[in-house]
Order: sequence, then C-alpha cells, then structure tokens
Amino acid sequence: MSVPGTEQNPLKVAIVGAGPSGFYAAEALLKSGLVVRIDMIERLPAPFGLVRHGVAPDHPKLKEAIAVYDRIARSPEFRFFGNVTVGRDVAVEALGTAYHAVIFASGAETDRRLGVPGEDLPGSYTATEFVGWYNGHPDFRDRVFDLSQEVAIIIGQGNVAADVCRILAKTVDELKHTDIAEHALDALAASRVRDIYVVGRRGPAQAKFTAKELRELGDLDATEVLVDPAELELNPESLAEFEDRKGAASKKNVDILRDFAARPRGGKAGRIHFRFLLSPTAILGQGHVEGVAFERNRLSGPPFEQAARSTGELVELTAGLVFRSIGYKGVAMAGVPFDARQGVFPTRDGRITDEQGTVLPGLYACGWIKRGPTGIIGTNKPCSVATVASVVADGAGLDEAPRPGAEGLPALMGTDGRRVVSYEDWIAIDQAEMSRGAASGKPREKFTSVEQMLEVLGAARR
Ligand code: NAP
Repeated sequence: MSVPGTEQNPLKVAIVGAGPSGFYAAEALLKSGLVVRIDMIERLPAPFGLVRHGVAPDHPKLKEAIAVYDRIARSPEFRFFGNVTVGRDVAVEALGTAYHAVIFASGAETDRRLGVPGEDLPGSYTATEFVGWYNGHPDFRDRVFDLSQEVAIIIGQGNVAADVCRILAKTVDELKHTDIAEHALDALAASRVRDIYVVGRRGPAQAKFTAKELRELGDLDATEVLVDPAELELNPESLAEFEDRKGAASKKNVDILRDFAARPRGGKAGRIHFRFLLSPTAILGQGHVEGVAFERNRLSGPPFEQAARSTGELVELTAGLVFRSIGYKGVAMAGVPFDARQGVFPTRDGRITDEQGTVLPGLYACGWIKRGPTGIIGTNKPCSVATVASVVADGAGLDEAPRPGAEGLPALMGTDGRRVVSYEDWIAIDQAEMSRGAASGKPREKFTSVEQMLEVLGAARR
C-alpha cells in the first residue's frame, strides 16, 4: 500500500473543533499537495467557534473571516460533522483508529481563576459567560446577569475586557442592528449600569488592549472615559519600552489614555474609569457582590518583564457587579494528555506529546489549545500551517493502511441515533437565522439552543 496522501490511499484527517484554527488547518491540508479527506467534528451544530460566539456583535468586520471558512467548507474533500462531542460521543482512541491523523483545534473553553475569596459570589461573573450570553452561545443563553446594579468592575485590561465594557456601555440604539442575541439586547435595554471600572494589575503601558479597541471606548454615544493623569506617569522602565519597536503598541495605548485624561468631563450619563496597578485580593459582599478589595502595586523588573508587586496599600472600590476578564484556559479531553497549569495540550511542533515529552503518533494540535489564548483570529493561521507542516512531514511515517474515516464511526454516521449536522444542514440553519434577523434589521437572529437549530432541520434531538 502507498504512503497516505494518494488517490489510492488519501490522507484521512479528523479536525476536532470548527473555529478559526480548525479551518486554517483544513485550508493548509487542502493546499498541501497531498490527496486529503478532511472530517471536521464540532460539538455544536454551528461552525466557526469564537468568530460566531466570541467576536463582539458590534465588530462585524472581524466576522468576515467566515466567508473564507465557508469557501473551505465547500471543498469536495471537506465534510462537517456538527452536534458531535469528541470524548463523549466518540472516543479519541476511536478517532485515532479511523484516521491517519487527528488535529485538535478545540480552543480555550474556560477561564483562568483569580483565586481570591468571594470569586463566586452572586454578581461576580466571568467574561466568558457574559460574552457567550450576548453572543447566543447555547451553553450560556440561560445565564442571568444582575444589570440592576449601577457600578460594575471589570478585572483585566485585555481586548475581552474592552468588549465586555463596550457592550455594557453601549445604548440599545448602538447595538440593535448587530447580531447580538435578542435576550441580551432586552436585558441590556433595562440595564442600570452607569459606572464601569476597568482595572489592571500593572500600569497603563502594560495594558493589553489593542489601540483600536481602546480608542473605541472613547467614542461611545452615552458614556465618557475617565483617567486620572497621575496614573499615567510612567516609570523609567516603561519609558524605555517605548524606545523599542516592541513597545510601539503600548505607546499608542498610553497616548490614547492621555487623550482620554485631557477630555472635559461631565457631558454623558455613563462613565468608564480606567484604573491601574491594582490587584484584587477579595471580592467583597454578604450574599452578593458589594465591592472589590485591591492591593496597590508597583512595577518591578527590567523593560518588557515588569511584574506587579504589592506595595501593601489597600484600596477598595464599591460595586454590585464584577466581571473577571483575566484570560481564557483550555480544558482537558479524555484520551489526550493535558498540561493543567497552562491549560493546553502539550506539543512539540504541533505534535502532541505525553508527560515525558514523547510524541504520540498521529495526534496534533493547533490554535489556542496548542499555544494558549493569545493573539487575534489571524494569528491562528500560521499556527495551523505549522502544525499541518508536521502532519505532512510525518506522512511517510504514518501507518500506511487506508483508514475508514467517518464511515468507521457510528457517532459520525448518525447510526447511534444522534442527529449529526452536515455543512448543508448548517447552510439551512444559517439562512433561517438570517431571515429571522431581517425582520428587525439585524444581520441574523441566532438560534441559541441546539434544539432550535435541529428543529430547523425538521429533526428532533435524541
Ligand atoms: P489578555 O489579552 O491576555 O488580557 C488578560 C488581562 O488580564 C491582562 O490585563 C492581564 O494582566 C490580566 N490578568 C491576568 N491574570 C490576572 C490576575 N490574576 N489578576 C489581575 N489581572 C490579571 O486576554 P483576553 O482579554 O482574554 O484576550 C485573549 C486574546 O483574544 C488576546 O490575544 C486578545 O487580543 C484577543 N482578542 C482580540 C479581540 C479583537 O481583536 N477585537 C477581541 C477579544 C479578544 P497582565 O498583563 O498583568 O497579565
């Protein structure tokens, strides 16, 4: 038998997860010059992962990546198997037998924990659940956020914090023509949140926002931005960072914050307050969030390695609502080694390894489950390309026996009673969402439960 990758013996690859990194892996396989058959397996009936359920509804340009993924999905060598959970409906071991290679692109599905008392008090939420909720993710559609509070604190200063802040701060008019979930628009319409504190543990030069996202917070209809100029005074190490090309983005952020600090105050109903050098030590409250206790920090270390060190000074902010936005984390999957500290599958050049660092033949990873939750959507492309290069390089060493692919797996064939969602099925769901949205001037009104999506297909969930 020939090496996998020929007409007689196509290279059969399963990709687990239908987000950006999974689609970029599929694209790289299609361009590899090998004869490939790609089966993408996704636990939801809807593809596109974080582009559908993570990108903020008021950032439609970022969702244009979907057009690229759609083209990939329509390739004859590609099949989509939605509504199938790997590790539950189909074992990783079974995938390893049915395919020459399995590429995990399952992302980072949960949050880092702060590890402070009061973290789980009512009124304290993770950014993940809020983002999932306003984006109509089936896992989060039933979450309830106490938007009767007037003051919210967001912990963390990355782009997810910026998204959460913007969605809390925008008026209904600013959101009603986006694809925000209807339940979220209704709840936000009744929101009483007026003051939003966006709090970083390091200084303004270390905030992780990108300039565009930060600037946008200063352009909202009903909310102004407040920064204390004293908090923008920088230590010599931060100033030294600006001298380096690596520091250009941070310098831009500080310039934007200086512009915010210089603006006249008092013209708008809502306020976004940026605060720096504060690490939460406890979320306070009896039965509900009443505030957050912080320790004031100073920066310590050389340029680009400055860490927050406590000064011992305590600061309290009063608020009825807290969003923890300190980064995502990957989750373990039965049958795959997991680095619990980093929240990733351990890899070498995209090849999954065991605890001893030995490569497990045929198992690969790309995207956030490989390198952690960093970078923008496009960052996943080179990451997936690099993993596929390892798959191709291993090609000759992969077991030569032809593999059955999905045809060898009852869970993918639907013969175990599950309604497996194909890409054609997804197109029907997609069109139904778009026509639901058209009535209210939205690009789409998402179905927010698996049952609703399957109903469109005229099939009941088992
Ligand atoms: P992130 O950029 O890593 O930001 C996490 C923030 O949490 C940082 O300010 C970090 O501070 C802080 N933090 C971490 N641990 C903390 C702790 N124990 N106590 C207090 N603060 C803590 O993560 P993210 O905002 O979740 O974003 C994830 C990725 O998605 C990023 O690459 C982001 O750019 C991308 N994204 C992009 C867009 C967009 O392009 N529009 C939108 C959303 C997300 P330190 O710096 O001190 O660690």
